[in-house]
Amino acid sequence: MRYSGFQVIKQGLTGNKGWKPVWREPEPKKSYDIIIVGGGGHGLATAHYLAKKYGQKNIAVLEKGWIGSGNIGRNTTIVRSNYMLEGNQPFYEHSLKLWESLEQDLNYNAMMSQRGILNLAHSDSQRDAMARRGNAMLLSGADAKLMTADEVRKMVPFLNFDNARFPITAGLLQPRAGTARHDAVAWGFARSADQHGVDIIQNCEVTGFQMKDGKCIGVETSKGKIKAKKVAVCVAGSSSRVMEKAGMRLPIESHVLQAFVSEGLKLTIPGIVTFGAGHLYISQSDKGGLVFGGDLDGYNTYAQRGNMPTLEHVVEDMMGLMPFLGRARLLRMWGGVMDMSMDGSPIIDKTHIDGLYFNGGWCYGGFKATPASGDAYAHLIATDTPHPTATKFRFDRFLRGGMIDEKGSGAQPNLH
Ligand SMILES: Cc1cc2nc3c(=O)[nH]c(=O)nc-3n(C[C@H](O)[C@H](O)[C@H](O)COP(=O)(O)OP(=O)(O)OC[C@H]3O[C@@H](n4cnc5c(N)ncnc54)[C@H](O)[C@@H]3O)c2cc1C
Repeated sequence: MRYSGFQVIKQGLTGNKGWKPVWREPEPKKSYDIIIVGGGGHGLATAHYLAKKYGQKNIAVLEKGWIGSGNIGRNTTIVRSNYMLEGNQPFYEHSLKLWESLEQDLNYNAMMSQRGILNLAHSDSQRDAMARRGNAMLLSGADAKLMTADEVRKMVPFLNFDNARFPITAGLLQPRAGTARHDAVAWGFARSADQHGVDIIQNCEVTGFQMKDGKCIGVETSKGKIKAKKVAVCVAGSSSRVMEKAGMRLPIESHVLQAFVSEGLKLTIPGIVTFGAGHLYISQSDKGGLVFGGDLDGYNTYAQRGNMPTLEHVVEDMMGLMPFLGRARLLRMWGGVMDMSMDGSPIIDKTHIDGLYFNGGWCYGGFKATPASGDAYAHLIATDTPHPTATKFRFDRFLRGGMIDEKGSGAQPNLH
């Protein structure tokens, strides 16, 4: 069913009994043209673009849990394209452009709100680095504004500007950045993929790959064997565990990252603010809760929960930057498993096994990439060539030493 103002009024007046389930619950068929392993944001977006843009009709998404149970429903919802390096900037800018028309594309309210991201600088050298990043963004068509300390003060007067250790010297603003409601993004992509005929199969864990003559010809799952002409893995924090079943060892480690939400407060923070002298990013949800996060917990794990010392560490950063928040109460916290690549940048590539494709290594920055990752992965699967904005996200960069180690995207998890 299409959503519209008319439907909202009609359903409201008739007891909201006419809404239909947002996607079907089909049983898996014996074979598909394309199987996507992992029903997170990226897997669902890939299915959406494969069906809508590349006209593929026979696709299944296999999800071991439920839609939205992974990182797509666990992140701090920040969407931005303030990347500097050549391999990254066009891809993330492409993603931000897709975000700007995503709700129309999906006919789904994902609560995309372009409220801007402000990265704070606390020394002259940090301000110079931000000027360089901002210039690189402008040169490749993104938006950026270097702000003086006075301009920052006008915009967010409540920050601790005169902290003796970390005074605020400048800020880099990307006005088009913002937030989107994370689980609505998963539901919107799932609904659209389903409408285009994609089978979304929940509670279906992929436990192995079927191989014949060096080619991947299907998967083994908790619901039986399913054949496929192409198998595309997209399992974020479980990347190394799943690809191990195909005999591949990845340049990826799994780490836990936590998110925190305070009680609802009056409008306090206009956009997203990041603390440049520690690692803290904070925004305010439409319900008023402060949504914030910081460093990884710092040890390898597949558990979707974190520990108290990291909470203390993140909250200390928050007190350093916004001491007035000391009396706000914390309401909720949770963790998600990050697929940390060794240079902080992702991989969207064919593997050495015919018919097997891989998408992962998103670190703690893959939410903003969701539409472009789906688009680029769909392009790769449909055409067997990399999408023009994702040509550098190849496995062989680790062989050649062609790293894309962008600061702020999670490079070197061992240093967290
Ligand atoms: C606390 C936190 C904060 C974050 N903040 C941000 C942010 O502000 N901005 C940003 O851009 N990014 C952020 N991220 C990162 C972002 O959420 C991830 O990079 C991105 O969601 C990963 O892609 P995905 O949505 O496809 O992953 P997921 O939703 O994790 O999808 C992978 C799916 O694969 C499934 N799966 C695993 N194994 C199997 C199997 N064997 N068979 C079938 N299915 C399987 C999982 O159940 C899961 O549903 C954050 C992450 C966390 C945890």
